[in-house]
Amino acid sequence: MLRDSFGRIIKNIRISVTQRCNFRCFYCHREGEENPSYCEMLPEEIERIVRVAASLGINEVKLTGGEPLLRDDIVEIVDRISRIPGINDISMTTNGFFLEDYADDLKRAGLMRVNVSLDTLDPEKFKMITGVDGHESVIRGIIKAVNANLKPVKVNMVILRGINEDEVSSMITFARDNNLILQIIEFERPRIDAVYQRYHIDIADIEDKIKKRAVKTTVRSMHHRRKYTLDDHTEVEFVRPMHNTDFCLHCSRIRLTSDGKLKPCLFKNDNLIDVLGPIRRGVDDNYLKDLFIEAVKRRRPYFYNNNLYLS
Ligand code: SAM
Ligand code: SF4
Repeated sequence: MLRDSFGRIIKNIRISVTQRCNFRCFYCHREGEENPSYCEMLPEEIERIVRVAASLGINEVKLTGGEPLLRDDIVEIVDRISRIPGINDISMTTNGFFLEDYADDLKRAGLMRVNVSLDTLDPEKFKMITGVDGHESVIRGIIKAVNANLKPVKVNMVILRGINEDEVSSMITFARDNNLILQIIEFERPRIDAVYQRYHIDIADIEDKIKKRAVKTTVRSMHHRRKYTLDDHTEVEFVRPMHNTDFCLHCSRIRLTSDGKLKPCLFKNDNLIDVLGPIRRGVDDNYLKDLFIEAVKRRRPYFYNNNLYLS
C-alpha cells in the first residue's frame, strides 16, 4: 500500500493518454501539464505502469487527456488495463465529441463509467467556450454512453462567471431526464491568470442552494466531495479544490502525464518523476516501484494550513 507522509493512502491513478485535443476550451488547465509534449506512452507501456501501480495497492484508473478518444488505440488501452488483477474501477473523462462512435467498444473493453464535459446546453455558448461547433455530437455521445450502460454517466460542468452560472437548474433537469449525475466543478486556476480572474466564481452559493433542496448528502472519500440527492433522485456532486484544505487532505490520487511522468499534484510541476524514460532504457519492475514510492514521498497537500500554499 502507498501512503504519503500526510497519511493519505494512494488508491487512484489519473492517466493523461495524450495532450492532443480537438477542442480549445479557453479555461483548460491541461491536467496541470505545462510543457507541450508530442511523446505519448504506448498501450503496453501504460499497461506496465498500471500493473506496477496495482501491485502497490492502486485499484482505480481514470483516463484523461487532452482528449483520450483522439487516440486510435484507446480501446486497446482500456482492454489492457481491464485485465490487470487488482484494478476494479476504470473510468474516463472525455469531451464527448467522439463518444457516440466509441461507447459500445469501450464498454466491451472494460470501461465502467464515464465523465463527459458539458458546460452549457446552449450551442452558441458551447462554441464560444470550446471553439468548436460540436454541441449536438456531445449530447448524442452522452445519450449513447447511457444506452451502452456505462454507469454512471457524469456530466462535468465547470462554472464560469457570466457564462453559465445561470444554467445550473436547466443542467439539473437535463441530468434528471437522461439518468446522469451532474458534477459541478469550480474553475481551477489555469495557465493564464487573467482568464481565472475574469471567469472564476466561488461556487459556495450554488452549493448552498442545492444543499437546501437535498434529501440526502453523501461525502465521498475522494477529496471529501459532497454529493446531494434531490427529491426527484437526481444527484449533484461538487468539486471545489480551490483553497480547499479538505479537498487536498483527502486526495488519494497520483497522476501520470501523457509523456510518462508521475505527477504528485495537479498544481505542481517541479516534482515530477519520469517513468517512461527508465522503461525505455529497460529497467525492471522493482525499479519502477521505487519510482512510485519516491513520487508518493513528494506528495504535499497544496492547500494546507488555512489555505497557505505549501511550496
Ligand atoms: N478532454 C477531456 C474533457 O474535456 O473531459 C479530458 C481532459 S479535461 C482537462 C478534464 C476535465 O477537466 C474536464 O471535465 C474539464 O472540464 C476540466 N477542466 C479543464 N480545465 C479546468 C479548469 N481550469 N478548472 C476546472 N476544471 C477544468
Ligand atoms: Fe481541455 Fe478537455 Fe477542453 Fe480539450 S476538451 S480543451 S482537454 S477541457
